[in-house]
Parts: sequence; C-alpha cells; structure tokens
Amino acid sequence: MKVSILEPKGYCAGVAHAIKVALQAKEDYPNKNVYILGMLVHNHHVVNLLNDKGIKMVKSFDSIGDGDVIVFNADGHSKEQREIAESKHLIIYDAICPKVASNLKKIVDEITSGHQVIYIGQEHHQETQIAIGVIEGVCFYDEKKKFDYSLIKDPSPFVLNQTTLNSLDIVNLHKDILSHIPGARISNEICPTTRKRQEAVQYLDDDVDAVIVVGDQVSSNSKRLFEIAKSTHPNIDVFMVSDPEEVDVEALKNKKHIAISSGASTPRDVIDIIYQNLITLE
Ligand code: SF4
Repeated sequence: MKVSILEPKGYCAGVAHAIKVALQAKEDYPNKNVYILGMLVHNHHVVNLLNDKGIKMVKSFDSIGDGDVIVFNADGHSKEQREIAESKHLIIYDAICPKVASNLKKIVDEITSGHQVIYIGQEHHQETQIAIGVIEGVCFYDEKKKFDYSLIKDPSPFVLNQTTLNSLDIVNLHKDILSHIPGARISNEICPTTRKRQEAVQYLDDDVDAVIVVGDQVSSNSKRLFEIAKSTHPNIDVFMVSDPEEVDVEALKNKKHIAISSGASTPRDVIDIIYQNLITLE
C-alpha cells in the first residue's frame, strides 16, 4: 500500500499567526487569566494545546473578569465585542488572520467610497458574520440561496467572499452575479493555501483509491476538501476524520494508494500519526 500526504499540510500562515499571538499574550501576562472568545482556530487539538498552556476558551464575556486578557480569534471580532472588552478594561490581543483583515479593509474602503459590496459566504460562519457587520450596507449573498438582485443599485458593486469557500462553487456564483450585473468587480478571495489544498484533492494521482481528509467537523476549509474530493472522485472512498482513532482501518486495508489531505488548522503531528499508522497496515 502506498500512502501520500498531500501538500500543503500543517498550519497555514493565518493559523500559525493566531497561535503565536495567543502564546505571546500568555507570555506577556503569565499571572493573569488569558481567554479566547470562541475557538482561536477551528480545530479542537489547537484548543486543547492552548488550554494546556493556561489559555482558556470561553463562549461569552460573562466568564471573563475585569482586567483579564482576551485574545480575539483568527476570524475577526465585531465592534460590539471590542466595546464590551474595553468596558471591562480587558487587555486585548487580536489574532485575526492578515488575509481576513485585508478583506475587511476592502469592504470598508469600497463602501466609504460610495460603492455597494456583495459578500458571498456561509450564513453561520464567524468570518462572514464579522464581514457583513463591519460597516453598514454590505449585501450578503448566502452561497446556498438565491440572491435578491433588487438590493443592488450600483452598476459596479465590489464582490468578495469568505476565504474558505469551495473554489468550484464560487466560479458559478461569480457567473450568476455577472449575468445580472455585468459591471460587477469580482475579487476572488479564496485564500491561496485553501485553493492549493482544494486543487490537491481535485487532481489526484491516477492510482489513488482512497482519500482521508484530516480536519475538524467545525472547520469550513476541511469540510470543503471533503466535498471536493467526493464530488470530483465519485468512485473513490473519501473519509473525514479529526483524530487518528477515527480512521476506519478495516475499510482501508486493501487500498492501493491512500492520499491524506488536511485542513489549514490541522496540526502536523495528527497527520503524521495517521500516516505512520497506515504505512504499517500491511
Ligand atoms: S486559511 Fe487562509 S484565510 Fe484562513 S486563516 Fe489560513 S491563511 Fe487565513
């Protein structure tokens, strides 16, 4: 049996940056409580790793005391969250991914200069929630629903998207927008590492007969890898796991070539354990 690990693998630059910021917060304030509001990045291994270092995830500000340290996560935070943090005199660290931050700036710049903005995303994803609330007037295009084009009066609105969407789906969404608004200015914001990971599961070696996507169930970019692998290779078995113990060894025993793909927040050691377990299967 052959086992290949698809590239890129391990943390993307945004995830590595977010972890570094959180660790820095604890290093700077070793005697204070350091909290993250929600998951720092969408992977429970990373949450556990930070927890072990005394950096706790909380779901709301209620658990955070006055003067504690807060780390805002990689997807960004809202104006309201910053105001609450400031009113509680929290020490603020911002772990937003630079790519996500750059998109927020583009939205504000476009609306401030008088243009309308169409933002394509997933309704419940935090990155999307922050983007459509960053300034008044952003028109949300839910990737799963029809868009109401009567909202757009601008002949050349700016169009951008959540960084972790499916690169195959977005092509059709852009076509839909251009068929209604030919002057729309499209900026494809699927992040480069997400795109490369998606291409890797799309263009597999001919002999690959199984794909394992390693990523958390709450990770949007990992779920897209699973979807793309399944849709582009309907005759291949595709699995998604977040832990080595979830790998279905029985189902893989007779495979010729297994490709391991991974999300942008999946730790490299989790991928390596799965790889080691598989190469010793025979
Ligand atoms: S996948 Fe891209 S956009 Fe998301 S955190 Fe990583 S670098 Fe940033």
